[in-house]
Amino acid sequence: MSGAPEPVIELHGVGRRYPGTPPVDALVDIDLRIDAGELLAIVGPSGSGKSTLLHVVGTLDRATSGTVVVAGAAVDRLSDRRLSALRAWRIGFVFQHFHLLNGESALANVADGLLYRGVGGQERRRAAAAALDRVGLANRAHHKPGQLSGGERQRVAIARALVGRPAILLADEPTGNLDSVTGRALMDLLRDLNATDGATIAVITHDRDLAASLPRQVDLQDGRIVADRRSSGVAA
Ligand code: ADP
Ligand code: MG
Repeated sequence: MSGAPEPVIELHGVGRRYPGTPPVDALVDIDLRIDAGELLAIVGPSGSGKSTLLHVVGTLDRATSGTVVVAGAAVDRLSDRRLSALRAWRIGFVFQHFHLLNGESALANVADGLLYRGVGGQERRRAAAAALDRVGLANRAHHKPGQLSGGERQRVAIARALVGRPAILLADEPTGNLDSVTGRALMDLLRDLNATDGATIAVITHDRDLAASLPRQVDLQDGRIVADRRSSGVAA
């Protein structure tokens, strides 16, 4: 890469208030910039606002104050339809519980990651096979999720999220449903996707050790960023 780093995500003074009596300020005055090629953790205890931040960054939810810019587009000025398009093209999601379709093969699940791209079925399957190969599951393409281990299911979910080469991968507690050995292997995969393919990845976690194994840690507490650190990111 050359030149100055390109921002993928820019949050300026972002707040998210959930209505109620009393209302909940899940995010307060968040300033956050994520550049292309970064691998970072967003870390904090339960209730600190991590999932809310993921939803706002991922354009699944709108901020109630401040501005959110994703891949150069100011989210608050986009219609819901354009927002859906931005999400489909620019953002990949991975969740704790995999969110795979149980009746479909791994290959079909990954190909679904290109559904809103106007790509033909044959090309979708070709790209899906390459993405499964990339996460080490070429030999599991025709297995259904129920025939796969938890770690394998999460690899399928990562392949689905990355098959369309999004600007950023957002992973919410991706190892939360895995044993520690499998979880570490999954983090190794994310590190490799970042180092080798240049994938931009934000991992949401409550696990401080896991966060410390990544090059940057953004600490959330009561909806505010209380620290933003960079470290060597040497894996434990
Ligand atoms: P985390 O992912 O770090 O556990 P969340 O983003 O889920 O935190 O929640 C942050 C705060 O916002 C918590 O106090 C939570 O109870 C509240 N919250 C989350 N979602 C809603 C909602 N839909 N309505 C009202 N309050 C919510
Ligand atoms: Mg959460």
